[in-house]
Amino acid sequence: MRYCKKCVMPDTKPDLSFDKEGVCDACSSAELKNTIDWKARETEFEVLVRTFKNKDSSKYDCIIPVSGGKDSHYQAYMARQYGLNPLLVHFEPTMRTELGLKNLENIRQFGDVVELRKNPEVYKKMGIEGFRRVGDHEWPNHIGIFTFPVRLAVAYKIPLIIWGENSQLEYGGPKAARMKNTLDRRWLEEFGGLLGLRVEDMVGVEGITKSNLAPYLYPTDEELKAAGITGVFLGYYFKWDARPQVELMQKYGFSVKDGDPVEGTYTNYENLDEATVAVHDYLKFVKFGFCRATDHVCLDIRNGRITREEGIALVKQYDGKRPHKGIADFLKYSGMTETEFDTIVDSFTDKALFVTDESGKLLRDGSGNLQLKEKLI
Ligand SMILES: [Zn+2]
Repeated sequence: MRYCKKCVMPDTKPDLSFDKEGVCDACSSAELKNTIDWKARETEFEVLVRTFKNKDSSKYDCIIPVSGGKDSHYQAYMARQYGLNPLLVHFEPTMRTELGLKNLENIRQFGDVVELRKNPEVYKKMGIEGFRRVGDHEWPNHIGIFTFPVRLAVAYKIPLIIWGENSQLEYGGPKAARMKNTLDRRWLEEFGGLLGLRVEDMVGVEGITKSNLAPYLYPTDEELKAAGITGVFLGYYFKWDARPQVELMQKYGFSVKDGDPVEGTYTNYENLDEATVAVHDYLKFVKFGFCRATDHVCLDIRNGRITREEGIALVKQYDGKRPHKGIADFLKYSGMTETEFDTIVDSFTDKALFVTDESGKLLRDGSGNLQLKEKLI
């Protein structure tokens, strides 16, 4: 593993490239963000608003996919600020937390909410299949959050969908994707976390039928074209910076986590709605050797809030630790034993990244944590 000289991102991150000086493209993107004429971008947003605003107020002006978290609060708030009447569309998470529910209730001050309450059995079968096949039990959730709002946009003929940050611009990715401002089927397939597994692959899994999958099927190109669907990132028009956005949204009643930070990182403002998300993040760690604390440290370094040295200390303290609480919740949810869970996790673990004994068996410390071979310095 090689780490970026400016932040702490390793080159094992998919789609991340490094320049000759050893700087990652997410760090160059952060500098690119400082050169963008944000005033001109705001004007572009105002043009977009004028184009899509309903002249006679007979229906919603746009759809905003919301989890209820900090980003969705900010998206809905900004839509209101610029005079849009949004329909907020929510896909029920895997195992909702009380705090997640509280925040979802709070977001209704910005607009009406439509929620898809999933068939829990079908969803769980897909989640467990996703966990076994691609190492991600949140797989049906990624599909749901990106597909259900688009289906609703087509059904209600509300052509504008406003997504949040452009994750390629914030976290690094192919150059063409960084400056792009459309979220469409291709984006979903490439960056939506589907990991090569298609919805159709779920037909027949534990008795799942095609009709069970209706909420997960992306509209056809013809349907999208007929409805004139346009999906844009709010992060294209306004300079995205999570921390001040969280502070602003707290003034509107958004709640962060009290006490300890969110499991797997040192922050308290993200991934508050899903009890098992630490397992999803931990799988990223075993596959690529970095996890959510690294993502947050990189953002804080790029936004000038901490030094790289402080970031390294945070990564060492929080990143990639076995998420005991998240695992307990996941075992309760899935009905798996811890041994079954570990066998599957180990099958996705990149043994080239972690310390093993001579027989190739992964070594763990007293708390069950894997040890990276390459130390971050
Ligand atoms: Zn970097």
